[in-house]
Amino acid sequence: MKTIGSDQFQDIRDAVRALCADFPAEYHRAIDEARAYPEAFVDALTKAGWMAALIPEQYGGSGLGLTEASVIMEEINRAGGNSGACHGQMYNMNTLVRHGSEEQRRKYLPKIAAGELRLQSMGVTEPTTGTDTTRIKTTAVKTGDRYVINGQKVWISRVQHSDLMFLLARTTPLDQVKKKSEGLSIFIVDIRDAIKSGMSVRPILNMVNHETNELFFDNLEIPAENLIGEEGQGFKYILTGLNAERTLIAAECIGDGYWFIDKVTAYAGERVVFGRPIGQNQGVQFPIAEAFIEVEAANLMRFEACRLYDAHEACGTQANMAKYLAAKASWEAANACIQFHGGFGFACEYDVERKFRETRLYQVAPISTNLILSFVAEHVLGLPRSF
Ligand SMILES: Cc1cc2nc3c(=O)[nH]c(=O)nc-3n(C[C@H](O)[C@H](O)[C@H](O)COP(=O)(O)OP(=O)(O)OC[C@H]3O[C@@H](n4cnc5c(N)ncnc54)[C@H](O)[C@@H]3O)c2cc1C
Repeated sequence: MKTIGSDQFQDIRDAVRALCADFPAEYHRAIDEARAYPEAFVDALTKAGWMAALIPEQYGGSGLGLTEASVIMEEINRAGGNSGACHGQMYNMNTLVRHGSEEQRRKYLPKIAAGELRLQSMGVTEPTTGTDTTRIKTTAVKTGDRYVINGQKVWISRVQHSDLMFLLARTTPLDQVKKKSEGLSIFIVDIRDAIKSGMSVRPILNMVNHETNELFFDNLEIPAENLIGEEGQGFKYILTGLNAERTLIAAECIGDGYWFIDKVTAYAGERVVFGRPIGQNQGVQFPIAEAFIEVEAANLMRFEACRLYDAHEACGTQANMAKYLAAKASWEAANACIQFHGGFGFACEYDVERKFRETRLYQVAPISTNLILSFVAEHVLGLPRSF
């Protein structure tokens, strides 16, 4: 099926599709059922160099842009996989590339590119403050050549399958800063050291097979050299990761959307009830056509967000809007797909219920649809602030 962008980045699309073909639906289904991590799949992506797409060539990566990275993520989901197992490394990468020091880049990037280290986690969300990020309570206090971390995070993904994590913490108390977004800093945490010296990890069993955790910090000491950029400016830096995350997840939702549409179109063309294919009924055709139109429209906004991001231009609005449109469109497609599979939509062997659960997450994470609407209302349209 020809779709927006499907005739572009053909080399990447063909190569990722070929790799994904070695991990068919049975593989992802079995991983989901066992609530396991798709280690072999992520290893294959790493060995093929895809997980180093955003690492500049001088550090061993392929120096591609977010546009190409988004095509990789889209193809994984379009092939029936779930990029959620590995997208962290993609969305974290530019935080290190754009805001890390030359020393930090040299220390980590070649090892990440070689697959010796994984940078798959980003710790922002906290249980008592939720989306109100600037009120986070985790603190980092500088003591000599170290920062001492205390606090708690929730929903921090892939910690058990990552060596490194970005951590957002407050370095200046909220009542001592001019703007609430000031006084926050980001650190690169070596997870392997941290779990031996003050960070504990409590897994959260959840609806999707998605490895995510509560983290507790009790006087965790990290070297001061692990601070990214300037102390107190972390909120600005973390946006590089958050905008990449929203844009990449938009691409994943678009991949999901096409997967659902392909699946339901094939089924509706074959399933005969009342002596004719169910897809001959307009009551069946229209929700599928509507979802397809919405996925295509979301895809345009995804490419626009990627273009701005890669040009180092302001892209927060487009990243948010792309994620909003794509998450909504993939959910519409998921609903049509499960509905027109009838009872079979609920049978695990059809994979529809698995993908349905996976794509539902993106109405809530990494940012809820309400918060995107609020961002657009206040920051784009200039309506009065509600909080
Ligand atoms: C599987 C999973 C993986 C995740 N991985 C990570 C991760 O790796 N790192 C990380 O830092 N976080 C992660 N998160 C956290 C995720 O980003 C948050 O769950 C999300 O941002 C919503 O925050 P919250 O859960 O605290 O909801 P809350 O902020 O408590 O909001 C709850 C709901 O209330 C509504 N709401 C809140 N405030 C307003 C308002 N002012 N106006 C209108 N509606 C409002 C929204 O609809 C929202 O969905 C993950 C979450 C999940 C479920």
